Formats: sequence, C-alpha cells, structure tokens
Amino acid sequence: MSGLAKLSAVAALLGSSLFVSTGAHAQGALTVYCGVQEEWCQAMSVAFQRATGVQVALTRKSAGETLAQVRAEASNPKADIWWGGPGDPQLQASEEGLLAAYESPNLKDLHPWAVSQFKQSKGRSVGIYAGALGFIYNTDELKKRKIAAPKCWSDLLKPEFKGEVQTANPNSSGTAYTSLATLVQLFGEEDGFSYMKKLHPQVNQYTKSGIAPANATARGETLVGLIFIHDGVTQKINGFPVDVATPCEGTGYEIGSMAIINGAKNLDNAKKWYDWALTPDAQAIAGQNKSYQVPSNKKSPIPAEAPRLADIRLIDYNFQKYGTADERKRLLTRWDNDIRASSN
Ligand code: PLP
Repeated sequence: MSGLAKLSAVAALLGSSLFVSTGAHAQGALTVYCGVQEEWCQAMSVAFQRATGVQVALTRKSAGETLAQVRAEASNPKADIWWGGPGDPQLQASEEGLLAAYESPNLKDLHPWAVSQFKQSKGRSVGIYAGALGFIYNTDELKKRKIAAPKCWSDLLKPEFKGEVQTANPNSSGTAYTSLATLVQLFGEEDGFSYMKKLHPQVNQYTKSGIAPANATARGETLVGLIFIHDGVTQKINGFPVDVATPCEGTGYEIGSMAIINGAKNLDNAKKWYDWALTPDAQAIAGQNKSYQVPSNKKSPIPAEAPRLADIRLIDYNFQKYGTADERKRLLTRWDNDIRASSN
C-alpha cells in the first residue's frame, strides 16, 4: 500500500469510528446496577447497546448492597436502572421513595406474579424472572465421605454437615434475605430463628454475594450451599460435580425485579431499557448465558434447564409483608443480634 493509500485507509477508519462514537453519543448513556450473574449482566448490556446505540455503564452488586448504595446516592442519583436480584429490597426502596413509578406497555404480557410485584410497589418495581430457593451439593465429595444428599431443611442440622454449609449474609445478599424470610414464614418466627441458631455451627462462611456458595460447592470447598437453585443448575451445566434439591418441608422463591431510580439522569434511556428488558428477545439472553430463571413475559421461552416452579413445594411467600422497610430492618437486626453475633 502506498503512503497515500495507507493515510486514506487510516483516515477512513478514523472517520468511521468517529461516526460510530458520535452516533452512540447522540443516543446518550445509561447506568445500570445489575443484580444477577456477571455474564448475564454483560450480555444484556452489549445487546442493549447494539439495539439502541445507548452507552451502558454497568456495575454488578448484591441486592442489599444496591439498596444501600441507591439510598446513599438519593440526593444525587448515579444510576438509572436497578435490574435483577430479588424483589423484596426493591419493595423497601419503593417505600423509601428511591424508585420512580413507570408503567411499560409490555406489562400486559407478563405473568401475574410479575404484575403483582408492580402492584405491590405501586408501579415502582416489576418482575423480570422467578426462581426457587434450595440446596446445591457436591456429589463427588458426598460420595467420597458416604454422606446422603440433603433433601430437607432438617438434614442440614445433621452432624455430618457441621462446618459444611455455606450461605450468604442477608444484609448484603438478596438470596440470603429470601432464605431468612422463608424460614420465618415456613416455621414461624421463633422456630425459624431457633432453626437458624442450630444451623449457625454448620455454616462455614456467610458470604457477601448469594452466588458465592454455589461457586464454593462446585469447587468442593463446602459440601452444601444455600442458593437459588437456578445458580446451581448453571454450575452443573458447566460440568461441576453438583446437584440441586429443594427442601421437603417447603421453600421460598424470588421475584427477580427491575426498577427505575427516582431522579434518574437518563430517564428516557431508562424507560427504553425497561421496555426492552420485558421483551421475549431480551429475556432469552438469560438462557443463552446459562441463567435458568423462569422469565416474566408469558411469550418468553422458558429454558429447558430452568427448574419448573410447579414441581417445587413453594410456600405462599408474603412479598408485601417481608418487603416492607420495617419488617426487613427488624428481621435483619434480629439476625445480626441472634445469629451472626452468636459464636460457634
Ligand atoms: N444471581 C442470580 C442469578 C440471581 O437470580 C439472583 C437473585 O435474583 C442473585 C444472583 C442475587 O444475588 P445476591 O443474593 O448476591 O443479592
């Protein structure tokens, strides 16, 4: 290539990249706090950028951490969208005035449980997926140690699981708050806390994120993890020696949710994301990235690998009560005092 040809090739390249960045810039920006697995967060961000030209800045955080951050930033919001993670903290955030009301034209296509999140939050949060709480266990390690796989909450209290159960801290993790609220609803508050006290010596670590126990179980660092079981299915499909179960006594579930932050600086783009995230095409990105929740749009395909909620003994989880600010704060304080503070 001659010097001139090289120069014009470079100029053409520069011109086209300038055009792309100007085009994207014209569509503006969007900041998303994402509550699910990193891979799914990133895939959503890339697909949305491609579909709209909007530049997405994304941070992955656990649900309780996002609530704390959105609250701390309330006078000068940094994020526009809170996408993913269990809905209870979003109900609390709605009550605290941290989220904006918005009704998407796609609301009519959603399952009743997703619309119920919308109604309970007075239009400030909406369901994007659902998933059940349960156990992940390492099949190789159990076999090696001749221990039967746990099937019930009561099994986790057996001597063979001492120091072998991992769960998250409900202050930071939405998964672990679902677990705390589930035990209280399933057994009653006193018996639920008494169960958690007995479980405490069995727990080797209260992790910050709800997915961490799934990763640790997959690697044999703990025998059992308390998780949303779709996170366990991902590990199994990734080839780790694990399996999942839902407790025989019954279990809770999450309505993974989405909201627009009150005072969002990029409100139009936030609404664009919100509408798009409720479409079957956007919801299919979950399964394509090994996330196996049940999507909220009735027209979205349910990944074949997704645990079927109808096959699980689910409690009638009271999202209204356990998502209120007072109840969440009260239960978390009691957990800090009665469970976390007690020594093994
Ligand atoms: N990851 C996935 C795939 C989830 O579905 C959820 C819950 O909605 C979470 C993570 C929750 O994360 P955490 O418990 O850290 O808030």
